[in-house]
Amino acid sequence: MMNAMDQASDDAMMLATVDEFCRRHLPPDEIRRRDEVHLAPYDLVPHLAEMGLIRAGFPEEIGGLGLPWASMCRIQERLAYHTHSISSLLNRYISFGAMPIRFFGNDEQKARLLPEIFEGRVLVALALSEPGAGSDARAVTTRAVRDGDGWRISGRKTWISDADQADYLLTLCRTPGEAGGPKSLTSFLIPRHAAGIAMTPIPKIGNNCMPSWDIGFDNVHVADSDRLGPVGEGFATITGSLRYSRASVAAATIGTAQAAVDLASAHALERQQFGRPLVEFQVLKHRLVDMHIEVRKARLVTYELARVIDAGEPAEEIGAVAKIVATEALQYVTNHGMQILASAGYATESPMQRYWRDARLYSFGEGTNEIQREIIARQLGLFVPREKGLAKTG
Ligand SMILES: Cc1cc2nc3c(=O)[nH]c(=O)nc-3n(C[C@H](O)[C@H](O)[C@H](O)COP(=O)(O)OP(=O)(O)OC[C@H]3O[C@@H](n4cnc5c(N)ncnc54)[C@H](O)[C@@H]3O)c2cc1C
Repeated sequence: MMNAMDQASDDAMMLATVDEFCRRHLPPDEIRRRDEVHLAPYDLVPHLAEMGLIRAGFPEEIGGLGLPWASMCRIQERLAYHTHSISSLLNRYISFGAMPIRFFGNDEQKARLLPEIFEGRVLVALALSEPGAGSDARAVTTRAVRDGDGWRISGRKTWISDADQADYLLTLCRTPGEAGGPKSLTSFLIPRHAAGIAMTPIPKIGNNCMPSWDIGFDNVHVADSDRLGPVGEGFATITGSLRYSRASVAAATIGTAQAAVDLASAHALERQQFGRPLVEFQVLKHRLVDMHIEVRKARLVTYELARVIDAGEPAEEIGAVAKIVATEALQYVTNHGMQILASAGYATESPMQRYWRDARLYSFGEGTNEIQREIIARQLGLFVPREKGLAKTG
């Protein structure tokens, strides 16, 4: 393993490359244009691959660069400082495609798909949510039933990012009558262009560069070799790599939050009212300091999560804490950032309105913060075991 000083110098070089890439391909005017015309940065994926960012956090034995997750978090944070859309797309390549295949793919799937994902040639969309299965993710009703050597899949998924652009849809299906009994859930990597798939876009108020789709599966046939992981253990393929994605999401959130704080600070130093810069009104100066404190707290807990991951320690509780602290910090700073910029932030030419709109998603996307609190409560033992509860009432 590399020593801390060498790692810091490697990270500095990687971050300089990331800055250069963003300055060249995603300058502020281009970010604004893409947001206005809802243009996702799929065209920039070859650059992410060329910089080695998709493979960077994976072990060298499987084609990765072996970077610690703390370094991956620094990369995500820096990308998101420029624009959240590019760091979020990188995270989807890693968390929805490469990670589930790394942990649950068979040898053939790993050999075929991991190099393609690392090269940015294969994109996997996560098709978990359904009209009746949001927070209650296990309530999926999309069914997969055996059909000869393969399966037939019917049902509906909703709010699926990238679905139209993806090569595969990592789809959680109910497989009643299979291992796991009536509650059996199994995951499939459904080829996006399989017959019987229909998609419609979902218009929305933010994250314009991350297209969202509603998907109908009408008797879609897939081969058994398209199954990811064992029959009946599909839920694990979705949740098995959550610790990594929690850290990436939190790190990206901090990047955007820092950009909002910097923008608000620059505005408060420059804008004059009553003959003085806004920053000389103590209420605004202290608000900027409070914004800084929120981002600082989020950064501390996120890099603690990264340390825990790199040390191989249990990360469920700290992962949920980091997700909550970072996403709520982002909402705090974008809300107050908007107040400090006032009309200047409300104009579409200001990035502040985009930060503010986009920020609203993160406290309920990627696992709502209420469900994260449930996860923490469970880790703290704040629940009554069902049998005990029944005994009490019975
Ligand atoms: C822009 C966007 C992109 C998305 N991308 C994807 C994707 O790529 N793939 C995918 O599968 N899904 C995706 N989703 C779906 C997302 O994961 C869900 O929106 C999320 O899981 C919440 O589900 P819901 O919206 O149905 O809310 P609900 O489950 O209806 O929840 C409503 C509210 O009730 C609260 N609540 C529910 N149950 C409890 C409880 N037990 N205790 C306390 N509070 C509770 C929730 O926290 C929430 O505040 C995306 C959503 C959006 C908006």
